Amino acid sequence: TAFTSPPLDELLLENIKLARFTKPTPVQKYSVPIVAAGRDLMACAQTGSGKTGGFLFPVLSESFKTGPTVVDNAQSHGYYQKKAYPTAVIMAPTRELATQIFDEAKKFCYRSWVQPCVVYGGSPIGNQMREMDRGCDLLVATPGRLSDLIDRGKISLSNVKYLVLDEADRMLDMGFEPQIRAIVEGADMTPVGERQTLMFSATFPADIQHLARDFLADYIFLSV
Ligand code: AMP
Repeated sequence: TAFTSPPLDELLLENIKLARFTKPTPVQKYSVPIVAAGRDLMACAQTGSGKTGGFLFPVLSESFKTGPTVVDNAQSHGYYQKKAYPTAVIMAPTRELATQIFDEAKKFCYRSWVQPCVVYGGSPIGNQMREMDRGCDLLVATPGRLSDLIDRGKISLSNVKYLVLDEADRMLDMGFEPQIRAIVEGADMTPVGERQTLMFSATFPADIQHLARDFLADYIFLSV
């Protein structure tokens, strides 16, 4: 009943303990082994189900174990440009949700190599651009601001190993589908099959099923 099957990274377990989480919620219990097995995931889970841990725990556990990948920035561009090459990207519909996810990520990344960052619209882009210059490993972002920062050359998705779409149904309700498709299907994004993609949604209507078909590879469907 603890966070033991499969075992999470030791440092992550310490951080989970510091957060006073003693046992996994159902979505956490099922998502960890699915992601650890390398599978894509479509999870139907409500707010309050612990879905944030449901994606942060397996992604961070694997990331802590794997360690950072070195990106040769100068080689990929022919010149040196400061930008962020996150290994994990989490898209969320609103500034409030993005901030909540970021606050959880900070707790669980404590004393690890993973530097979490958050970017969202409705706030000056200059500060966020300078933050991306300093690097970011786990990025929480709203879709509009993410695509803006990609266009400005401040974020590359070529190093993404984990892509998470949180509250996918709300993102579609808010009209973000074009931005999300441009980001996920863009030439810079790690292709399906070379990244793991996790989608979380409260509901599973036709438009979400289409996104799942387009963004996920041979996925496992989890409903809690
Ligand atoms: P979420 O559904 O991810 O927004 O989580 C809802 C609330 O439950 C948040 O305040 C979390 O910090 C808390 N929470 C999530 N997982 C656990 C857990 N395993 N044990 C205790 N609290 C948790």
